[in-house]
Amino acid sequence: MQHRILIVEDEEIIRLGLQDNFELENYEVETACDGEEAIAKTDSFQPHLILLDVMLPKKSGFEVCRFIRKKHPECIIIMLTAKTEETSKVAGLDMGADDYVTKPFSILELLARVKAFLRRIDLQKAPAKQLSSVDVIDFADIHMDFKKFVATKGGVPLELSTREFQILKYFWQRRGEVILREDLLQDLWGYTPDNMPSTRTIDNHIVNLRRKLEDDQANPKIILSIRGAGYKFDA
Ligand code: CA
Repeated sequence: MQHRILIVEDEEIIRLGLQDNFELENYEVETACDGEEAIAKTDSFQPHLILLDVMLPKKSGFEVCRFIRKKHPECIIIMLTAKTEETSKVAGLDMGADDYVTKPFSILELLARVKAFLRRIDLQKAPAKQLSSVDVIDFADIHMDFKKFVATKGGVPLELSTREFQILKYFWQRRGEVILREDLLQDLWGYTPDNMPSTRTIDNHIVNLRRKLEDDQANPKIILSIRGAGYKFDA
């Protein structure tokens, strides 16, 4: 299956460079130069994945992200942030982005990450290959439907990104076990042991998830920290 990728970037040289590279990898590519065009193209082109610059004319990448996350919950969003915008990474994840890449980025690393995300979509579409496929789970006051990408806490809708759904599904499948940050990077992000990035990405996601799921995020009861190792999901 040929995957569709929308590249949203106002700097022409970066946009064209990305387009060339992704077309060479046999993806179907469309581009947009500003926030409004990004939203329009998402509706018409229905991309599987969006590479979304933060600083854009008309609407910022954050606004676009929030909008698309609501309307197209299954679409994967990777934000492209400038190196100085450390806080914007967290903001991007808050808005429902699945991941972020810091400029200047390595095109090979970006291609690898995109490939890992899209491989997961293909796996999700072939549930027979999954060892244990769960669609609906309930724990504490939280209800999650992985098929519909819907989650609620105490009946109130939660805004979770595709990545957050993946993390929680993974946690659920391994509930009660100690999960290393490296396990998540390998099994969900698709990294290999000799190609492992900083585990801070994981910690940022966990901070966000706790904020959304826990009654008291300073005293978590669902996602527990295991000192020196990683996390444990207590359902
Ligand atoms: Ca820009």
